[in-house]
Amino acid sequence: MSADRGQVIPPGGTIGILGAGQLGRMTAMAAARLGYRVHSYCPEADSPAFQVSAAKTVAPYDDQAALRHFADSVDVITFEFENIPSSTGELLAAHRPTRPTPNVLHVAQHRLREKDFLFTNKVPITRYAEVRSVEALQRAAQEIGLPAVLKTAQFGYDGKGQVMIGKEADIAAAWSRMGAAIGILEGFVDFSHEISVIVARGIDRKMVTYTPVENQHRNHILDTTIAPARLPQPILTRAEAIARDVAEALDVVGLLAVEMFVTKGGEVLVNELAPRPHNSGHWTIDACVTSQFEQFVRAVCGLPLGSAERHSDAVMKNLLGDDVAAWREILADPGAKLHLYGKSEPRLGRKMGHVTRLTPRKD
Ligand code: AMP
Repeated sequence: MSADRGQVIPPGGTIGILGAGQLGRMTAMAAARLGYRVHSYCPEADSPAFQVSAAKTVAPYDDQAALRHFADSVDVITFEFENIPSSTGELLAAHRPTRPTPNVLHVAQHRLREKDFLFTNKVPITRYAEVRSVEALQRAAQEIGLPAVLKTAQFGYDGKGQVMIGKEADIAAAWSRMGAAIGILEGFVDFSHEISVIVARGIDRKMVTYTPVENQHRNHILDTTIAPARLPQPILTRAEAIARDVAEALDVVGLLAVEMFVTKGGEVLVNELAPRPHNSGHWTIDACVTSQFEQFVRAVCGLPLGSAERHSDAVMKNLLGDDVAAWREILADPGAKLHLYGKSEPRLGRKMGHVTRLTPRKD
């Protein structure tokens, strides 16, 4: 049973967010500008969003008493990451409007369900197969062909739980290296660009799309986002259309980030979905009329969406680990917009902040 009757949550209300990382932090800051309070819920006490939240709960994601108490203290619930148990989403949705619905998380938190969903909805993707044993992996490798990429079905992000298989002799080692009971084998995509499109979708099902951006990774972690992507207009238009189709098929209320590959032949293939603000949308804070975070707040609270128009072109660079030590030099550059997440320990590869540089819009 759902508590969502399409209610509008007016400014002054409280938004409950599961997860309290930098995405929750930047959402809470956008929410505050619109007069909302945020109650963040996260198992780790030292989380970036807690520093800017009106209320916090530190408890595991399956603590039913804490979840009920949290739901009772907010007007609407959303998520800043998707890896929470299904039963948690269902419990929350029975108490308060929960946007997006737990079903959206259920699909997006599991690579196989996600790929099956995309395949069923005729969204272009690379070939894939479910594998539950080394024998099944051998069969799948024959069907799909090598090279291919073996991924864990669950809890994989930033390249974690991912093994490249170049030749048949690598199959057994890849299976044991993946270290999970269920995997997914994907055909290797010989891409020229990795891009993403963020779609905001309101309770009235109206959609607003940000321009497709180009993403460059370092050690599987997003390093740089270039907005807009440097690709021909027909490819950008196609990418936007695909992202909107996926948001509609999933019936997302909130945000959907769609990560895609552009092949050397100009084909656009969807890689992954994230039903929340996304690292590749941080540039929108400084370069767009409405940032992805404000858009997220608007959608979740049932407000009209803002314009996603960009007033400038932008390059966003993540500050990973020790990169953050350069904060003085960054601040000394008058055109650089520095965003720090309030994390105390700059561990290797940890997202500590980002910096966005704007240039006049070219088109
Ligand atoms: P993911 O965790 O699925 O986002 O993958 C992390 C990164 O691995 C992607 O951003 C790509 O650079 C690379 N990758 C993932 N899947 C494939 C694939 N099927 N073909 C080629 N590269 C891939």
